[in-house]
Amino acid sequence: MTTTQAHPIEYLLRMDRMPHIWCPGCGIGVTVNCFARALQDSKADLDKTVIVSGIGCTGRVAGYLKLDSFHTTHGRAIPFATGLKLANPELNVVVYSGDGDLTAIGGNHFIHAARRNIDMLVICVNNFTYGMTGGQLTPTTPYSAVASTAPYGSFEKTFSLPFLADSCGAVYVARWTTFHVRQLARCMAEAFTKRGFRFIEIISPCPTLYQRRNKLGDGLSFMKYLKESSECKDGADTRAVALDFQGKIIVGKFVDRDQPTWLDDMNRRYREKLGDKYEEYKGIK
Ligand code: SF4
Repeated sequence: MTTTQAHPIEYLLRMDRMPHIWCPGCGIGVTVNCFARALQDSKADLDKTVIVSGIGCTGRVAGYLKLDSFHTTHGRAIPFATGLKLANPELNVVVYSGDGDLTAIGGNHFIHAARRNIDMLVICVNNFTYGMTGGQLTPTTPYSAVASTAPYGSFEKTFSLPFLADSCGAVYVARWTTFHVRQLARCMAEAFTKRGFRFIEIISPCPTLYQRRNKLGDGLSFMKYLKESSECKDGADTRAVALDFQGKIIVGKFVDRDQPTWLDDMNRRYREKLGDKYEEYKGIK
């Protein structure tokens, strides 16, 4: 930190992009603060850390962080991130996006990257709605909650993202909220140090659309709800952490296991099959 810095994470932000676009009371900025603290605490190599996002309010994160950033098309953050990782396996690749972008439009990419155990950290800011495009229903909008495309309340069943990630093969799965800033920053720092497909869900307020339509008050009211309704259960079975409208929120680290990544497995298989020709195939010789 230099003496001219106004804030300890300022050097990690593109200050020329400020002010940001997020509404008062939005939780996305809180998650960025935790992410920046995690980068500091884990002493991440900033020259090797890249951040990829799709479209939406959370998608703007990639543009505000002073890292190598890719702001990609809607739902396609994970394929871009996969390409980066395969082209340069030394990179620490982070995907940072919202629930609609990652699990609706990008839903197939999400399940297959988890299934393949692609080495990346995926952070999903889940505010139960498409913010930037007008408050439509997403796969995580709780049953009975109102959205611009569900004026009488959603009658669709919802995805439970920790269960989805776990059942598809993610090696690290956790959920926190924007109330749990210390736990979230610690969790992000821990996830940086692991290899494989790692997933962190962050429950976050969207006062402008989700809360207004559901008459849930402002950002502070939602933070109160997050505080009063959450219970920490590390190691909880992900089948038992689904969310209901304004119901209990189970938070914690649910999954932490070691599995070979897609690249590790591919290299091992090619080494076995090609023998002496493997180095030549890799273009090393
Ligand atoms: Fe945040 Fe919602 Fe505003 Fe988007 S619309 S910036 S998610 S409060």
